[in-house]
Amino acid sequence: MTEKIRVIGAGLAGSEAAIYLAKKGYKVDLIEMRPKFQTGAHTTSYPAELVCSNSLGSLDLLSASGLLKEEALKLGSTLFEIAKKCSVPSGNSLSIDRFGFCEEIKKIIDSFENINQINEKYEKIDSSIPTIIATGPLSANELAQNIKEEFGEENFHFFDAIAPIVEKSSINFEKAFWASRWDKGSADFINCPMEKEEYEKFYEILTTAQRAPLHDFEAGYFEGCMPIEVMASRGIDTLRFGPMKPVGLFDKRIPTEFKKNQFYAVVQLRQDDKQANLYNLVGFQTNLKWKEQKRLVQSIPGLENASIVRYGVMHANTFINSPKILNKSLQTKKYPNIFFAGQLTGVEGYCESISTGLFAAINMDRYIKNKELIKLNNQTMLGALIDYITFEEHKKLQPINSNWGIIKEIEGDKKKLKKDKNLKNQIRSSRALEEIEKIKNTIEET
Ligand SMILES: Cc1cc2nc3c(=O)[nH]c(=O)nc-3n(C[C@H](O)[C@H](O)[C@H](O)COP(=O)(O)OP(=O)(O)OC[C@H]3O[C@@H](n4cnc5c(N)ncnc54)[C@H](O)[C@@H]3O)c2cc1C
Repeated sequence: MTEKIRVIGAGLAGSEAAIYLAKKGYKVDLIEMRPKFQTGAHTTSYPAELVCSNSLGSLDLLSASGLLKEEALKLGSTLFEIAKKCSVPSGNSLSIDRFGFCEEIKKIIDSFENINQINEKYEKIDSSIPTIIATGPLSANELAQNIKEEFGEENFHFFDAIAPIVEKSSINFEKAFWASRWDKGSADFINCPMEKEEYEKFYEILTTAQRAPLHDFEAGYFEGCMPIEVMASRGIDTLRFGPMKPVGLFDKRIPTEFKKNQFYAVVQLRQDDKQANLYNLVGFQTNLKWKEQKRLVQSIPGLENASIVRYGVMHANTFINSPKILNKSLQTKKYPNIFFAGQLTGVEGYCESISTGLFAAINMDRYIKNKELIKLNNQTMLGALIDYITFEEHKKLQPINSNWGIIKEIEGDKKKLKKDKNLKNQIRSSRALEEIEKIKNTIEET
């Protein structure tokens, strides 16, 4: 096969993509800037380096992360296969010997004569050559600049400032109520009201909670976006005049003679996904440690048992506005031969990056062979992730990891399934794997 493909970035997504395409016989130029230029988080010259934890999350098929890995393995992932070979004991999760892992990946890449490893910084997108861009959360500035020029300034982000996201099914609607401020438009927001003592308790937790440290390379990123804990430190009432403003919010179940404030403070939650399973806490972008966030969120009336599917974070993270730039096959709408993969697309996490690297490569192969591109439905974890990052109605895409909240609900006895989470996850997991099996057959046969 003579067709040449470029893969930019030999991180998790890029290594997976390059190996898949090399196995298919393509000539692959794998362009990686390390070790000439480092990212601030990587420390070696190896491909597929894990920049932080050595855990790839659960292996349990009844967990979102376990299901995602199994789906990718079925679709032909090399990195997960090697990760399993390099695993170290850690119960039911997949933790790996990080050096052993990237050494193995390096050996595999080196073994392909058709992978040409180029050690340079890629700065400008060249749409004359089929390319997968997988330069990750710390993509070099020159390329970031060029992506902005190609796809629009407003479609490129340099950091996450995320508020926690919770599952609607875990919200206590005896306390929470639906309303929009001053009844304007439809009652789309979930509101969690607080009395004075509840607010004071919440404020105490917020202002004494531990914060997560920032890396050196993150200094200066967050000037335009204030975390809720910083806002709170300006005075006890600052939040009541800001994101927790109670005016104009009425619980219609409570008779109110005059249209005045019913509550002392209100936390609002806004729909976060197409299926309305997930809701984010409005204005709650935070850099608190995760266990502190859980304590804080669960101190809010109505969220006592909230299941948090995504914690708030504030960190350096370059990602594109995928709803505008990509279709569901991870192909750019502007250039059919340019695909994006990995954390740069708005997924978050090692497993998510590897899986999207594989998926972009599967579709690049099909694109070159003039075959119909694969789209996964949101019954699969990978399909649900891609559905989420390409959901066109996002006000602003915030990166997401695999979680059950994004996957299509199952039909059936809702009460029984709500009580029996294991049964629910078993059904969702087998449904997803059956779907992946069909997709695998399609890939092999057509
Ligand atoms: C500090 C930090 C800690 C993280 N910790 C975790 C964690 O513990 N667990 C977890 O699941 N996820 C974590 N993540 C998130 C994410 O899963 C990882 O960053 C993951 O490595 C992303 O995979 P990727 O393939 O998209 O990017 P990467 O693995 O970062 O690969 C991108 C590659 O592209 C190269 N590159 C960048 N720009 C250019 C260019 N212009 N030209 C050529 N090469 C370029 C980089 O050198 C790098 O090798 C962390 C992220 C960061 C930033």
